[in-house]
Amino acid sequence: MQNQKFFSKTLLQWNDTENNRQMPWKGESDPYKIWISEIILQQTRVQQGMDYYNRFINTFPDTQSLATASEKKIYKLWEGLGYYSRCKNLIATAKFIHRELAGEFPKKYEDILALKGIGSYTASAIASFAYNQPFAVLDGNVFRVLSRFFGEEIPINTSEGKKFYGALAQSLLNKKQPGKYNQALMDFGAVICKPAAPLCSQCPFKKKCVAFLTNKVSYLPLNTKIVRIKERLFNYLVVEFENQVYVHKRKAKDIWQNLYEFILIETKKPLDEKSIAVNEEIIKILNQCDFKVKCISRKKNQKLTHQTISGQFVHLEIKQPLRNKEYFPVNQKQLKSLPFPKFIASYLADKNVSLN
Ligand code: SF4
Repeated sequence: MQNQKFFSKTLLQWNDTENNRQMPWKGESDPYKIWISEIILQQTRVQQGMDYYNRFINTFPDTQSLATASEKKIYKLWEGLGYYSRCKNLIATAKFIHRELAGEFPKKYEDILALKGIGSYTASAIASFAYNQPFAVLDGNVFRVLSRFFGEEIPINTSEGKKFYGALAQSLLNKKQPGKYNQALMDFGAVICKPAAPLCSQCPFKKKCVAFLTNKVSYLPLNTKIVRIKERLFNYLVVEFENQVYVHKRKAKDIWQNLYEFILIETKKPLDEKSIAVNEEIIKILNQCDFKVKCISRKKNQKLTHQTISGQFVHLEIKQPLRNKEYFPVNQKQLKSLPFPKFIASYLADKNVSLN
């Protein structure tokens, strides 16, 4: 109990005297802007997220502008951020608030939590930052700081761990200034009690931090999760006819849903000119159309959280238009306006979107 009081008091003192972490959304009280920043920051580093946040807020300054914008424009702005289900949920929630709640962002924690794409962390952040309500946030920074300071060894990724650290965070929360306290704790985890090489020598907690005193800083927090990385090989067919190439909107729910892509053939080994000529899936998609392989790109790689994508782009020329309703032709200009996953966008950037 004594350590709990020391923790909360010292944290706010550190915040008032030493915390100079700057972020465009810090101190923001507009729930819409807080929501946008929190969704962007899920799975995205702060530095990378800042540009996206500024562009998003400049283009869509409120729920109404986001709810009434074209999905293509929103996804284009999101391009490169990854985890596109975040964008899908953002659109659904903006529409819901606009249509069902007359544009008013909900104020009650339970109502915020009920919105699509909003979990307990984001609901607590919005409730405490926008409305100063006493809900403690629990993100990676908070887990780490609490586990180290109190020397707790309950793994943070178990349901027991989530329950335990959630209750601890809530008991430590300064109920008079929950927004300020929550932000201070996350800032502290990001700049002092960092995952690797924390700044223990200049930390105001070091005299009472259990991990520091027992030499367990690099050991805590514990995480039992073993992430199995799936390896996938993508062959993208860039099928060209009269300076147009064929694309479609990706419907598969695994990754990149609602973004655009070329014709995808997933294989165990990379395709070469010989195997392309006899590949039954390609022959079926191209509807028996005659084609010529113009070039095959270098192999590219992209690491996602649970899978590694490697692949290549096979530029094919066909002699007549493709008769396949799944795909539609686009010219160079249209190609530039479509939202693509980073894997394809970087290929197009390398090629400078030249179709011939
Ligand atoms: S002493 Fe080190 S491990 Fe402990 S809270 Fe401070 S920075 Fe984190």
